[in-house]
Amino acid sequence: MGGSFKLLTVWGIDIKVHVTFPLILIWAAIQFGYLAGNGMAGGVFGVIVITLLFVIVTLHELGHSYAALRYGVPVEQIVLLPLGGVAQLKNIPEKPWQEFVIAIAGPAVNFAIALVLYLFARLFNLQISSLDTLLNNFTSVTFNAVFSYLFVYNLFLGLFNLIPAFPMDGGRILRAFLATRLDYVRATAVSATIGRAIALLFGLYGFLGGGFSLILIAFFVYIGAGQERETVTTRSVLRGLTVGQAFSRQTQTLRPDDVVQTAVNLTLSSHQANYPVCDGDQLVGLLTYPQLLQALHESGPETAVSVAMLTDLPILSPTSDLIDAQQLLRDNQLTALPVMENGRFVGLLTTSDIGEIYSLVSAAPDLLPRRQHEPLLPTKH
Ligand SMILES: [Zn+2]
Repeated sequence: MGGSFKLLTVWGIDIKVHVTFPLILIWAAIQFGYLAGNGMAGGVFGVIVITLLFVIVTLHELGHSYAALRYGVPVEQIVLLPLGGVAQLKNIPEKPWQEFVIAIAGPAVNFAIALVLYLFARLFNLQISSLDTLLNNFTSVTFNAVFSYLFVYNLFLGLFNLIPAFPMDGGRILRAFLATRLDYVRATAVSATIGRAIALLFGLYGFLGGGFSLILIAFFVYIGAGQERETVTTRSVLRGLTVGQAFSRQTQTLRPDDVVQTAVNLTLSSHQANYPVCDGDQLVGLLTYPQLLQALHESGPETAVSVAMLTDLPILSPTSDLIDAQQLLRDNQLTALPVMENGRFVGLLTTSDIGEIYSLVSAAPDLLPRRQHEPLLPTKH
């Protein structure tokens, strides 16, 4: 994920923090210190509370990761974002009950911590403040307040993630249950529909006076459900296909000293919109359609292609999995990637190539031979 830096490594998993994290700490210092009228002590309190909340999120993600590793599922990394964390798993387990255990392991960590804190409070006679008191009162800079924040936040994180809608853990738990009866794509579709229904209820309740944050959550859940369904459907259609089956071999190339106008002419007179740039038989860059538009807009049609093109690109091979290639395009926000075979440029894989093979194979699933070893679906928790 762009814009994050590594904090530490646990069980071989890199734990990264998004660059906005320091901003949140500064916000906390101002909110709890200056705005609440607590000065320096309040600021320190705010930073401690927010840091502890992030520690809780990390433990939640480590819960997922621990369960995943137990089933032999590699965890690529854990990224801590401003609004929570994501553990990126290399693939999801084929057995529904493994997905169930991995999904529930996160909230389970929160409930376990909450229970320990509760017992601790009982033992030492500590008062746990309610969420309302905490949110409306930034002035209590005490150990008790820190303790209450931790307790309430653990309960909240555990319960919130059990809502049976993607992208929350509850959505995956629901799918795992459904997948014991239905195939994976169908189970995802049904849980996505349930998730959207829940989102609509949230939204409605928000509009009827439940508050703006509910509307925001509803929106986020509605989008999340759709994305999960789309990802799973696309992946099931493209599963086992290779870049070699989809990429365009007849590709017009440009030279670095060509001007953008040449690309414009080619685009208007052909189906091509992305251009590999070759110096002799050496691939030196790629002029994608968005790059072409940007160059036209910013410096006009006489701009040299070498100035407008992208360099330092990921390279595909005809034997690459199409699913991985699609992910690579998406991750790099690109519309095309060059395909090389034995160090030689052989063509271009574009998002429209993927769209074409997708609709063809959707219409006739047995149209093309599929590779036996099926890439599994990567997932985020
Ligand atoms: Zn989770």
